[in-house]
Amino acid sequence: MVDNIVQFFRQLPAKVCRSCGHEIEEQHECYTNQCENCNNQ
Ligand SMILES: [Zn+2]
Repeated sequence: MVDNIVQFFRQLPAKVCRSCGHEIEEQHECYTNQCENCNNQ
């Protein structure tokens, strides 16, 4: 079961900032579609 879940998340495309297109690292702020830079503006 756990292995299947890991595989599932690995297949997800990387999140990309909606504003600048920079790849977003997984964080606690998983609800945002912007990187930290754009988020703080
Ligand atoms: Zn950005």
